[in-house]
Amino acid sequence: MMIPAGAWRRTAVGAGLLGPNGEVSPTIFAEMTALAVAEDAINLGQGFPDEDGPREVLDEARRAIADGENQYPPGRGIAPLREAIAAHRARFYGLSADPDTEIIVTAGATEALAATLLALCDGPDDEVVVFDPCYDAYAAAVALAGARLRRVPMRWPDFAPDLDALARAVTDRTRIILLTDPHNPTGTVLTEDARREIVRLAERHNAVIVTDEVYEHLSFGARFRPIAQIPGAAERTVSISSAGKTFRTTGWKVGWLIAPAPLATAILTVKQFLTYAGGTPFQAAIARGLALPDRYFAELAGSMAAAQTALGDALRDAGFEVSAPVATYFTVGDAAGVGGADAAAFCRELPASIGVAAVPLAAFVADEHRAAYASLVRFAACKRPEVIAEAARRLQLLGAATTR
Ligand code: PMP
Ligand code: GLN
Repeated sequence: MMIPAGAWRRTAVGAGLLGPNGEVSPTIFAEMTALAVAEDAINLGQGFPDEDGPREVLDEARRAIADGENQYPPGRGIAPLREAIAAHRARFYGLSADPDTEIIVTAGATEALAATLLALCDGPDDEVVVFDPCYDAYAAAVALAGARLRRVPMRWPDFAPDLDALARAVTDRTRIILLTDPHNPTGTVLTEDARREIVRLAERHNAVIVTDEVYEHLSFGARFRPIAQIPGAAERTVSISSAGKTFRTTGWKVGWLIAPAPLATAILTVKQFLTYAGGTPFQAAIARGLALPDRYFAELAGSMAAAQTALGDALRDAGFEVSAPVATYFTVGDAAGVGGADAAAFCRELPASIGVAAVPLAAFVADEHRAAYASLVRFAACKRPEVIAEAARRLQLLGAATTR
């Protein structure tokens, strides 16, 4: 049967998700993971850890299941998790949030983003400003919300956001300034100046700031500070995070958002008709995780710093020019020197040629910006040291092949 035309087509905006015959193609992450599995390659493409999260968190999920915590949670999420989110926010950032009115638990950060964009955008006159490259779900969710995306470039090699371009992009049509901080795929964090400028522009044009902070505990070369700390920001900011990265539980899809009560209410009205609610025993487990001592969070960031250093060295030794990430799972390499002038083609061949998978940065950028990112490749470092070491060995083969 022909798939009827519908909103699904709009998910293709800027993301190349429709195949030549109108069929839905997988996301770049699913595509590269499928290639990695088919070729038995080391998967440095899709960002997910290859180790389980902390024992206390896993045990708490088992306990909750065994104790019968298996029915629908409240739409906003179970009270202990909302309280733990508020306590975590106060402990790490000195920010307060009311668990009853300002916090909503979601099916991952992805649902929080989708519900926020659907709730707050109202048609094609509304614009959402993002930094480019940006996470692939943003373009799709903005398109589903029927709004328009405006992209402000971050340029290789330092990926500093162009604040002059931002000031030109934000206008009275801007409904939302949508940030990722720390930033996937570039591994940067916003500077204080950038955060202040974003808040100034949002205030001037009465825009909402939506900030996706799923890598909040994975900064190591620079300190991550949430934009909601800037004076004037919290009252217009929706802060989104997720347990996936912080507790190595990407498959649990427990996320949350923190927003002023009127914004949270608007978002909840949409969210209740997306999933309504889910993951009761996992919510209990993440409440336990958020209460872990500071040491847990420091060690998580420390292990990522070591993994990123090892990955960066491996890429440099193999002939890539390499970015200097200060946060997240990701290092970006310029593959021009190793036969990867067209990184999209390069990434499709890599699993078969040397047994490593990665994703091209072109998948995160607008069509009109693609040329500037054509040879750039994102590698994920969230793997055990011995796996990174084996990837390093395989990447050396690439250098050998290209010099022959
Ligand atoms: N935002 C960013 C920037 C991400 O990298 C990811 C993927 N982990 C998500 C959102 C999705 O998060 P979740 O799996 O919690 O839906
Ligand atoms: N967030 C993960 C990444 O950037 C992928 C999540 C997904 O597969 N959609 O690699």
